[in-house]
Amino acid sequence: MNPFSPQLVYIEPGALEYTLGRELKEKFENMGIEIRETTSHNQVRNIPGNNELQQYRNAKSTLVIGVRKTLKFDTSKPSAEYAIPLATGCMGHCHYCYLQTTLGNKPYIRTYVNLEDIFAAADAYIKEREPEITRFEAACTSDVVGLDHLTHSLKKTIEHIGQTEHGRLRFVTKYHYVDHLLGAKHNGNTRFRFSVNSDYVIKHFEPGTSSFLERIEAAGKVAKADYPLGFIIAPLILHEHWQGGYLELFERLEATLPKYAKRDLTFELIQHRFTKTAKNIIQKRYPKTKLEMNEEERKYKWGRYGRGKYVYKDDEAVVLKETIQSYIERFFPEAKIEYFT
Ligand code: SF4
Repeated sequence: MNPFSPQLVYIEPGALEYTLGRELKEKFENMGIEIRETTSHNQVRNIPGNNELQQYRNAKSTLVIGVRKTLKFDTSKPSAEYAIPLATGCMGHCHYCYLQTTLGNKPYIRTYVNLEDIFAAADAYIKEREPEITRFEAACTSDVVGLDHLTHSLKKTIEHIGQTEHGRLRFVTKYHYVDHLLGAKHNGNTRFRFSVNSDYVIKHFEPGTSSFLERIEAAGKVAKADYPLGFIIAPLILHEHWQGGYLELFERLEATLPKYAKRDLTFELIQHRFTKTAKNIIQKRYPKTKLEMNEEERKYKWGRYGRGKYVYKDDEAVVLKETIQSYIERFFPEAKIEYFT
């Protein structure tokens, strides 16, 4: 697949006060992409399309270049202390994407150009907690790697956190455009995680993202660049021949990663779940999806504020968990399984 290139770009005037804002404007002008000015991203209207579905798809190829005004970071427990805001939205079309419910009717992509302000805020958070380590998660509201070949904001963030003694960065991606990040001076302070899955799941449910083999190859490159590495396998789906599908994933990873990288690997395992709200949105936006979301075949798990979700029934979840754990123990005995949920 080709790296993301927006079809339409909006620029907030304030963004042009920053070097990155001006650089991006020039870049997109040279690429011949239509650029419109907007006073605020909330004013981004008239995204082309004859109906809601078309507008949704077009929004996902629309990029807003903006300024992050709120410099109070959200918390991102348990895997990090804070979410570092670099971008929101994503060009991918994963049927079960969490952004469909969290971003509501603003699915366009925003990138923030006031990196200096964002880094200063991060430094203040680090200082506040010293000598404790402060971890920042960069992928709470976007897949930043999918966009970073254009902005290099993630690269700058990796290098900024690399210079700190007590700061750590982490993010997860379904994209393989990592080449420009390989030479970044990360200083071991960034854990680079890939969201991976069986080939079947990626092919059927993750359009617009990098393929099974592209992600595995990219993970190998990242390991060779000495980044601490991790994998999120999510969502784990009990599709036909799933055992073989996940076995192939582990066999490929084992064959690709260098020996030394296997000593400090993390795995996060998340079984497929859905809420009633998510199911409605998915069926509207991806009407032909083969994603199985039959409430009767699932267990209802109560959540906070009464907002529950449907997960696999206990006996199925146990088989799933034990199978994946057995693969990890077999192929990566030194890896750490952070959780199965
Ligand atoms: S790559 Fe991640 S953020 Fe992007 S659509 Fe897929 S699940 Fe959502």
